[in-house]
Amino acid sequence: MEKKTFKAESQRLLDLMINSIYTHKEIFLREIISNASDAIDKLHFVSLTDEAARQKMADNPAINIYTDKENNTLTVVDDGIGMSYEELEDNLGTIARSGSLQFKQQLDEKEKSDIIGQFGVGFYSAFMVADKVTVITKRYDSDKAYKWTSDGVDGYAIEECEKDKIGTEIIMHLKPDTDDEKYSSYLEEYMLKSLIKKYSDYIRHPIIMEVSSSVNTAKDGEDPKWETVKSRETINSMVPIWQRPKSEVSDEDCNNYYKESFGGFSDPLATIRVSAEGVVSYKAMLFIPGELPYNYYTREYKRGLQLYSNGVLIMDKCEQLLPEYFGFVKGVVDSPDLSLNISRELLQHDRQLSIIAKNIEKKIKNELKKILDTDMDKFESFWKNFGRHVKYGAASDYGMHKNAVEELLVFYSSNDGKLTTLESYVSRMPESQKYIYYACGDSVAKISALPQMELALNKGYEILYFTEDVDEFVAQSLVAYKDKPFKSITAEDSELQSEDEKKDTEQKQQDNKELLNFIKESLSGKITKAVISSKLVSHPVCLSTEGPVSIEMEKYFANMPGNENKPTSSKVLELNPDHSAFAALKEAYSSGDKEKAAKYSEILYNQALLIAGLPIEDTTKYCDLICSLM
Ligand code: ADP
Repeated sequence: MEKKTFKAESQRLLDLMINSIYTHKEIFLREIISNASDAIDKLHFVSLTDEAARQKMADNPAINIYTDKENNTLTVVDDGIGMSYEELEDNLGTIARSGSLQFKQQLDEKEKSDIIGQFGVGFYSAFMVADKVTVITKRYDSDKAYKWTSDGVDGYAIEECEKDKIGTEIIMHLKPDTDDEKYSSYLEEYMLKSLIKKYSDYIRHPIIMEVSSSVNTAKDGEDPKWETVKSRETINSMVPIWQRPKSEVSDEDCNNYYKESFGGFSDPLATIRVSAEGVVSYKAMLFIPGELPYNYYTREYKRGLQLYSNGVLIMDKCEQLLPEYFGFVKGVVDSPDLSLNISRELLQHDRQLSIIAKNIEKKIKNELKKILDTDMDKFESFWKNFGRHVKYGAASDYGMHKNAVEELLVFYSSNDGKLTTLESYVSRMPESQKYIYYACGDSVAKISALPQMELALNKGYEILYFTEDVDEFVAQSLVAYKDKPFKSITAEDSELQSEDEKKDTEQKQQDNKELLNFIKESLSGKITKAVISSKLVSHPVCLSTEGPVSIEMEKYFANMPGNENKPTSSKVLELNPDHSAFAALKEAYSSGDKEKAAKYSEILYNQALLIAGLPIEDTTKYCDLICSLM
């Protein structure tokens, strides 16, 4: 028998693959089964036009798995098309025929090898678990059968042999067990069953193996007598739920599938089914969870969709299919256009995947928008779980994704205390209102109590309650919605006043210039200026801020770990000129009692800090100060 060597580059790849790339050796079975399934499909295809092929085809073509513990072999037999001598030579003599070079290039990039690991390298993966592989095959249109044998190292040999049925048998002589790897476990029933379930459950053809079950063999009236009975059974469920027509799948089916496959405890909030044909064809079944996964806001949580190609699981969590801000979505994508073969350029996969990802993003967004428009209660329960996450999406990457999510953003509002979209906020804006106004605080109640709220509400302006620390960052990233800029009512330039009121305030500002300067000086560096307030009605003081860092942001940064160079806000002390406290301060100042005036300034400043929810620097000193006036 003639011994042939692998092509040189194949040899090197083989070594690499067997010895280094895969941490998941178990995928070899998926690869061999996938080939067997393809072989049946091919035979089916030729039989459509070839009567002889049709006659040779098995009634129920299947993939059979046999184990032989004595000889330490695992065998996969298919009723497929089989291979001729030349095909054996061509197909199994060279690794990944068309793409071996690309494969090698990609190997250099360490991080990419993980991705490749998810895609297949086909037949050769058998050598990860076997030290010898025998292939016995008979092509459907041939009388001759051939046996191909190889130890994966020295090369391979082909000889003629006997085989009754057409199709192919792959016999893997498993490697001896080592401390690290129990190759013999691939002969165990539970192991094979779980691998088939995991990777090949949706292969269209039956995957059959021997399984044991306990059967009661007692006759009527006798005590139960349990015996282990062995029988050959189909392990895979063959038709995945997402491939079945919508009309055949009930909501309950979908819900059950979701709970079984994605660890949900309760029904999903919504199920999205996609069947797309076009540049890339795919089917998808997506779920918006009805509950927050317990580890959702931790690093442990990995986003991604399951990716299938022709019923074979390629990737369990394909990140690329989901944008970060929809990372809560679970589900599967199945596309026959993604070849399992790594010989296809990965770049091409990337392109196909990003087309699918774009589509999917749109579908998710539309579904959420539909819920928002038709069922606010349902949307609110979604928002409670994932609203924060969507908001982070709007704020992240300098607002790059804002268009994708701005229609979905909702905030509590002074309109009716309920959640509102930006769209309906804007539709309610009086013509005189230039900005979308918001106010920040820990809760709606706290925000409602802010002294600045009074004037804004008196003016008939609606205020959005920003109760989460991310909210203001969202407003900053969005800048504006429908050309209406966001504005905090606590910003120095909140522009709540009318032109006349503004003039009046400016006049008072002029009249009290000296006093205001004095206040600033006496508070040495704590504020950037003291001003006559443009936003107070009945309360004595408040703080506003100039520039990009607001008080809420200052708090947010203060709470983050680390203590260097934290951004702080530029604070402006706003005083209500019509309040008796201001009158008292003015009186002390103009009567020449600078000490008292300084004390009053200090008190008013600290009051303003308290109202804004900021800590007072020296609480004892503040307490003494108040008591000294009593
Ligand atoms: P791929 O299947 O990705 O093309 P493989 O290395 O797995 O790469 O297989 C190489 C080729 O060998 C296949 O394309 C197919 O033509 C042939 N082949 C492998 N397994 C079988 C089989 N069970 N029956 C028929 N042909 C097979």
